[in-house]
Amino acid sequence: MLVPLPAEAYINGMNDAAAAPLIDPFARPITYLRVSVTDRCDFRCVYCMAEHMQFLPKAELLTLEELDRLCSAFVGLGVRKLRITGGEPLVRRNIMGFFRQMSRHLGSGLDELTVTTNGSQLARFATELVDCGVRRINVSLDTLDADKFAAITRWGRLPQVLEGVAAAQRAGLRVKINAVALKGVNDSELFDLVRWCGDEGHDLTFIEVMPMGDLGNEDRLDQYWPLSDLRRQLAERFTLIDLAERTGGPARYVRLHETGQKIGFITPLTHNFCESCNRVRVTCTGELYMCLGQEDRADLRAPLRASDDDAALVAAIRHAITLKPKGHDFDYSRQTVAGQMTRHMSHTGG
Ligand code: SAM
Ligand code: SF4
Repeated sequence: MLVPLPAEAYINGMNDAAAAPLIDPFARPITYLRVSVTDRCDFRCVYCMAEHMQFLPKAELLTLEELDRLCSAFVGLGVRKLRITGGEPLVRRNIMGFFRQMSRHLGSGLDELTVTTNGSQLARFATELVDCGVRRINVSLDTLDADKFAAITRWGRLPQVLEGVAAAQRAGLRVKINAVALKGVNDSELFDLVRWCGDEGHDLTFIEVMPMGDLGNEDRLDQYWPLSDLRRQLAERFTLIDLAERTGGPARYVRLHETGQKIGFITPLTHNFCESCNRVRVTCTGELYMCLGQEDRADLRAPLRASDDDAALVAAIRHAITLKPKGHDFDYSRQTVAGQMTRHMSHTGG
């Protein structure tokens, strides 16, 4: 659906955030931006990348200066939370310079600057992240078994990640562990993961494996472990208290009465969460995806590169938001993968 831009949204040719914050056609305010700063990664997780990935030529990627302009434009339009992701964001050259630049928005527009990482570089960067105003991070970790970890990530090594997580904690970062629920892989470790996170003081969120990438539908379907099932198993050992808390995102939370731990569930396939979606995603090439599970997207690189002035960029963002779809169409229910996205998760950053 095409919604015309309101004339009052323009002041001297520039959009004004206060006059017209980003609201999509379904009355959802867009306040959360996730930016993939690279498609490269030092791991090759089986559900995310092929082992021999063809990465983009460098010229395709937004430079750090372009990423700065783009993120700053979104902050000017009312985005309050910025998550840096990838690929592996912490392998991009001089990424700490970018975090430092973004930190200037904290307290003046931006409430939170955060990152999703595989943890491999945290031992190097945790202290600097804190210096840049980062307070909470997400670390993806599916298993505490070194062999399984190597099998899932292909190139990753568990001790390096555990050391990174420990360094993050020493630096004062709050860590949330994100674990993809994988049938036949980490289903036997459910209680070990819960116990470890409880002992270490990390929050824990489980994610259903999504039909992303061209890795073969059967792989994804075979590995699909519905979180309804995981939750049932948890409930056999713990009393689960549903929390009303919503982050505007896909996660639903419970508290384990016995330990006080908060556990999140990201269930794109068993629970539709789109009605409260407050987010959009930008890829490392400057494509704005209005929904993770749809192909609708807008090119922001062209307006960025066409002019040093941000007017065209802002107009392109506003126009794209008028096209944000109502929701995604992922569906495994007929024992096939429907609504599948051929692009890899590393492209949009999850
Ligand atoms: N490299 C960083 C990391 O692993 O945290 C950031 C990018 S990664 C693409 C972001 C998240 O997407 C990770 O938590 C990863 O587990 C998740 N992910 C990747 N492929 C997925 C898939 N097919 N289904 C569900 N989650 C996936
Ligand atoms: Fe890399 Fe993250 Fe994808 Fe794993 S999930 S291959 S760590 S981008």
